[in-house]
Amino acid sequence: MFAVDLRFLAVAALALVALVAWRNRAGRSRLAAMRELEERLKLALWASGEYYWDYDVASGLVRRLQVADPGNGDAGRLVTSTLDIGEVGCAEDRPLIHERIRRYFEGGEDTYRSEHRVPGADGKLAWVRSRGRAVARDAAGKVLRMAGTTLDITRERAAEGAHRVAAQVLRSMSEAVTVMNRDFEFVSVNPAFTRITGYEDNEVIGRSAALLDSPRHDSAFYRHVRDLITRHGHYAGELWQRRKDGEEFLCAYEFNVVHDGGGQPQYFVAVLSDITQQKRAEEELRYLANHDTLTGLPNRTLLSERLWRAILHAQHSQTRIAVLFLDLDRFKDINDSLGHATGDRILCAAARRLQSAVGEHHTVARHGGDEFTVVLENLAAHHDADAMAQAVLDAFEAPLSIDKHLEVSISPSIGVSLYPDHGASPASLLKHADTAMYQAKAGGRRMYMRYDETMEVASRRRAVLSGALRKVLERNELHLVYQPRLTLARTPPAGTPVPARITGAEALLRWNSREHGEIDPTEFIPLAEESGLIREIGEWVLREACTTLRHWRRQGVGDFRMSVNVSGLQLMRGDFPRVVREILAETDVPADALELELTESVLMASAEQAAARVQAFRELGVALAIDDFGTGYSSLAYLKRLPITTVKIDKEFIGDLARNPDDAAITGTIVAMAHSLGLTVVAEGVETDAQMRFLQQRGCHEIQGFWLSPPLGAGDCLDFVRRWTPACPGGGGALS
Ligand code: C2E
Ligand code: MG
Ligand code: MG
Repeated sequence: MFAVDLRFLAVAALALVALVAWRNRAGRSRLAAMRELEERLKLALWASGEYYWDYDVASGLVRRLQVADPGNGDAGRLVTSTLDIGEVGCAEDRPLIHERIRRYFEGGEDTYRSEHRVPGADGKLAWVRSRGRAVARDAAGKVLRMAGTTLDITRERAAEGAHRVAAQVLRSMSEAVTVMNRDFEFVSVNPAFTRITGYEDNEVIGRSAALLDSPRHDSAFYRHVRDLITRHGHYAGELWQRRKDGEEFLCAYEFNVVHDGGGQPQYFVAVLSDITQQKRAEEELRYLANHDTLTGLPNRTLLSERLWRAILHAQHSQTRIAVLFLDLDRFKDINDSLGHATGDRILCAAARRLQSAVGEHHTVARHGGDEFTVVLENLAAHHDADAMAQAVLDAFEAPLSIDKHLEVSISPSIGVSLYPDHGASPASLLKHADTAMYQAKAGGRRMYMRYDETMEVASRRRAVLSGALRKVLERNELHLVYQPRLTLARTPPAGTPVPARITGAEALLRWNSREHGEIDPTEFIPLAEESGLIREIGEWVLREACTTLRHWRRQGVGDFRMSVNVSGLQLMRGDFPRVVREILAETDVPADALELELTESVLMASAEQAAARVQAFRELGVALAIDDFGTGYSSLAYLKRLPITTVKIDKEFIGDLARNPDDAAITGTIVAMAHSLGLTVVAEGVETDAQMRFLQQRGCHEIQGFWLSPPLGAGDCLDFVRRWTPACPGGGGALS
């Protein structure tokens, strides 16, 4: 301020001297001194960029003295001009100028000051700052003349405007902006900084930016970042920071250096925004995209990503990977019988069981539906994968606890493929493990199989058969064979011996395909179950078997029972009891002449659910048998809760009776327990005299098997039944 006034006074004094000289046209003798003064004045005006003016109040004239513009012919010379006070400034700003002059004259201000616009030489308005003081007053102190200077401040105003805008922008920005010195101490911060960090400007200015460091990174990390900023003048990245209240937040930072006039770093300007929420949302989305919402396990996408990573690692470290592909056995039946909500809970429980069996460090993924995948890395040998697959099977031996009232026994079938032996990409490893899994299913379920190339053939055949199976009914390619069942002779206590006789037959399905020949039911029935075709096929079987029985009854077989196998899918269908009733009515077969054979696994899912379904059949009056008993998990005590009539001991136990004392013990126990529960017990797959005798001694009620007869066509079977006598068992062993 002081310097400005001095300069003003100097300019004014010089100008005054010059003006005096100019107005009075002083004598030639003072010309040299005048020239010198004029030169100085010129210099002063040139240096300050101002022009000098003098306002004569009485005449209303303003005289101006200025250094001529460059480009003008008088460049560098002092030029004068005169204008009326009414012409000063631009039209809009004139009232303001006059108001300022009036206030100064009236003593309201000690200096005349005005910032206003004037028309410039280029026609545009230029901003000027004008200052002046009275240089002559009358005796009463009234201003007679005022002189002063005017400076073009257009650029300054523009810069100030820009500065004001910048300051406003900083204030209203949602990103925090902070200026730091070279030691990373806060120099200034904007309101968003306070909003984000919780620190007011007076709490941080002068303090180190380390104030915001979070323990999530160590101090070496922050040192490294600051070092990068100092060295490169720029840094953009994400850092964890800590707010005043201690809460941590993830911050996106951009640092830029501001150099001083000498090109040295002077300040760092950092723009930061809190991206914690955004990151969280992103992570959530990524999680959802990569995980199965039901079980929380990685989904197919993430599995494939992990598998790629595992393959690359295995390539590098020359190790093996195993992919285990699991499918829960008969899950479809369980889902249908217990409902989808319970099915979902079973899947979750199975996922947990699986993860705990393989351990946390191996990837377990849900492939979809009831299919799961396990990736085992760093395997030393093939048998490591086999051991793990076996461990998974063992882990599923114990039932899954779904809630207080519900325990479900479920087993997986597992296919195993190995890298690099069976494939070098996730797709091929998964495909081959899937193929092996199908083989495990076909091999009887609840087992694992390691992939080998011959399975490809089997898998292609499965696809072809599945297609052919669709046309099986319209092409009339199905027929039934019948395997007779013998009720053994017994001697009731204190009664007449009851001779052995044939009291029934089991209807067994055959498919003679035009293209593929005779196909085993163990091969095509699982395919029909998979596609759901088993419902239609099952209905056909039932109608066919009942029609045959009607014919036999008319031929006089007498007290005779027909057994028909029923798949889980048929059983669980709500209207199956109605179908059975209708077929019985249609074929005129009494309900008690029909026995439905159900497999254990269907019934084992839940006692209550199965009981309700099975009860509907009992109410019709049909007999109900548990087929293949002993291969599942069912206990006889459990079966007691179901309204079944018959237990069929699986041929697996019978086949080994003579060789395996365990099988003998199991069979003996089943027979004894069936007696105590009042159930009929049937042994399947009886092939030898020894087996027959063993069973008879234990009190087994009925037998079925090649010892008596293989399955026969309807006509042959009827002949067999008619001709069979204990003394002449028609191909079977002699009974005595
Ligand atoms: P399953 O119900 O346990 O039928 C007994 C199987 O054992 C039959 O095989 C029969 O031929 C065979 N078998 C009979 N006696 C002997 C013997 O002494 N030794 C040996 N080793 N085997 C014997 P098959 O006909 O191949 O049927 C296999 C399975 O296919 C059946 O087992 C049954 O689960 C299923 N199945 C057959 N027909 C139907 C059907 O109409 N519907 C449904 N859902 N399943 C059926
Ligand atoms: Mg059967
Ligand atoms: Mg069986």
